[in-house]
Amino acid sequence: MGNESRQVTVNRAGLSLMAGDITRQATDAIVNAANSGLMGGGGVDGAIHRAGGSAILEACRQIISRQGRLPPGEAVITTGGNLRAKYVIHTVGPIWHGGGPGEAEVLASAYRESLKLAATNRLTSVSFPSISTGVYGYPVDKAARIALEAVISFLNDEFTSVKEVVFVLFDSGTFDAYVSALAEIYGKKE
Ligand code: ADP
Repeated sequence: MGNESRQVTVNRAGLSLMAGDITRQATDAIVNAANSGLMGGGGVDGAIHRAGGSAILEACRQIISRQGRLPPGEAVITTGGNLRAKYVIHTVGPIWHGGGPGEAEVLASAYRESLKLAATNRLTSVSFPSISTGVYGYPVDKAARIALEAVISFLNDEFTSVKEVVFVLFDSGTFDAYVSALAEIYGKKE
């Protein structure tokens, strides 16, 4: 794990998969799989707040006091604090309840809204974790397909500053699921 990666080009932007820890990424922004309260938690959320320090939590508090809880499928941006990434984009994925149509749409929206926010802020590079496939229980094979299709369609449809999207996948099972989903989308056999 660590240096294996897979890459495709979509409308002149690079889309790649790597195994690793998103808190170490040096892209302009990293995306946090947050919860609606934006006060940190377990999984990647906890790791990002631990590595980035209190400035991120303070910025989240201000957002919550201004606009209330962040609904699933939406995204907000804060400083990256002590992280190598300048910004953290916080989004909330759906909790898996068996896969009604709303769940896939909310998951796709979490990716799309994060990328829109990156583009609004003229960012060039963004790293994503596998949203909703930890504590939120979304099956990773399904989530991988939805995640990749959402990113690919955003890059194809929009004129955007975003030229590099990296999925940083924490464990080998998750990495393998994304590699398979990308291969399926591109019609290749692994
Ligand atoms: P959710 O609540 O959206 O399911 P989790 O944080 O529980 O979010 O899990 C989402 C994914 O993030 C899981 O695949 C988990 O293994 C992964 N993850 C946990 N820590 C990190 C990290 N430091 N970097 C990248 N991915 C991570």
